[in-house]
Formats: sequence, C-alpha cells, structure tokens
Amino acid sequence: MRLDVLTSGIWQTTTTIVSEGEGCFVIDPAYFPRELEQIASRARDLGGAQGVLFTHGHWDHVMGHTALPGAPVWVSQVLADGIATADPRVARYLEDAREFDSRWYVPRPDGHRWPTALHGIRDDEVLRVAGISARTLHLPGHSPEGLGLVIEDVLVVGDYLSPCEIPFIDDATAYRQTLARLLDLLRDLREAIPGHGPRLTAGEAIAIASADLTYVDRLIAAADPAAALAVSLPRAADVVGMQDHHRENCAKLASHSH
Ligand SMILES: [Zn+2]
Repeated sequence: MRLDVLTSGIWQTTTTIVSEGEGCFVIDPAYFPRELEQIASRARDLGGAQGVLFTHGHWDHVMGHTALPGAPVWVSQVLADGIATADPRVARYLEDAREFDSRWYVPRPDGHRWPTALHGIRDDEVLRVAGISARTLHLPGHSPEGLGLVIEDVLVVGDYLSPCEIPFIDDATAYRQTLARLLDLLRDLREAIPGHGPRLTAGEAIAIASADLTYVDRLIAAADPAAALAVSLPRAADVVGMQDHHRENCAKLASHSH
C-alpha cells in the first residue's frame, strides 16, 4: 500500500491518497483550488480516483470532491442522513465554506454542494475501494458524524489527535469514548494520520490521545464554569484563537449538563 499525504495551506489540513496497484482512494480532498488541482493530478498519475471519503462534514474537509468528478463519495450514515433530510446543522457546513471563500475571494466554480453519488457507511464495516480494504469507525465527539478508517496498520482519524490544536468538542461524553477507543486501537497500529498536522507514529498519537483524554476528563469533572475555564490546555496554548476554542468547549459542556 502507498500513502500520499498532502497538506493544505490552511490549518495543515491533510488529504490522504491511498493506492495499491491501479487506481486510488482519496480522503478529505482539501482545500484551495490549486491544491485540488494538484490532488487531482496525483490521483490521475495513480490511475484515477475510484472513491472519495469525508471523515466528517466540516467545511474545510468537504469541498474537494468536485475536483474528482465521477468518484463515488463515502460519508458516515449520520452525515448521509443529515444531507438527505436537509438538517440545518449540516446545511451550516456548506454555509461556512461559502462564507470563508467569499471572505478570502477563493473561486469555487463548481459551487458549494454535497456530492450527488453519496454512500452512507456505519461503524465496523469493511469498505473496499481501489483494491484497498478499510475498516470503518464511527467517531462522534468532535462532530456527530465523525468517520475514521483503519487501513492495514494505519489509522485515518479526521479531527482527533491533531498536534496543532486542542480538542474541539461537540459532545464531551462521546469525545472521551472516542478517545478511549482510539487509545485501545493504537496499541496494534503503526501510524495515525490526523485531519490537521503531520503524520504521527502510533506512540506520538497515543501521547496526544492520553493528554486529550485528561483534558476532556478535567472539563467533565469541573464543578462549575470557572473551574472548567481554569483547566490547562493540552497543547497549542499560544496559538491565536485556541483560548477561544477552550472557552467554547467549556460553554458546550455547560449547555449539555443543563
Ligand atoms: Zn472538524
């Protein structure tokens, strides 16, 4: 198996291209037009994209499919259902992409839209694309529709385990369950590819997962909002905006416990 990981100029967002013989499989093609051209050209060199997968629905992960026309797209069943029922939370993801592109004059000639050839998959299924077999993992916590993959001894994990940022929490209880599950899986794996930042050895990923689990557990255990705010960040504390994300995590926890 060959893995190509390309990194976007925004937030070190990763695109993973998996190939094994003829054709390839592209995970989270992102983000800017010239980056998507490069991804499409790499896919052509590898015999063409036979499938695309989104690790979740957030705007920075879902705009690239139009550069790989004709490739079917897999998403978690939760996201497929959200798209089918026009769930406002899911509609917001496209709106976020539209707003970002508008603000920075990013051309998007094919528009902001979900793929037409869309397949929902659930937890613990085997996905077979381009001669590759991958086991699916439903990973809620960062967003309800998180979808990870285990491909041979590599974990593709979406927006968990990033060395660039703290956990961005949607549901703290689900987030901690997901981390516990990832920690368990990583013991038997070699590498993890997070949605943002460099490729990680299993050891590096375990260290990040442990630190994040401690952080989430401290937030859950905090007696009141002030105690939650006082919890120290697991990393990236000096990155602009990270303290705001921490405050959002605390607010999310307060709103869930009411
Ligand atoms: Zn995300």
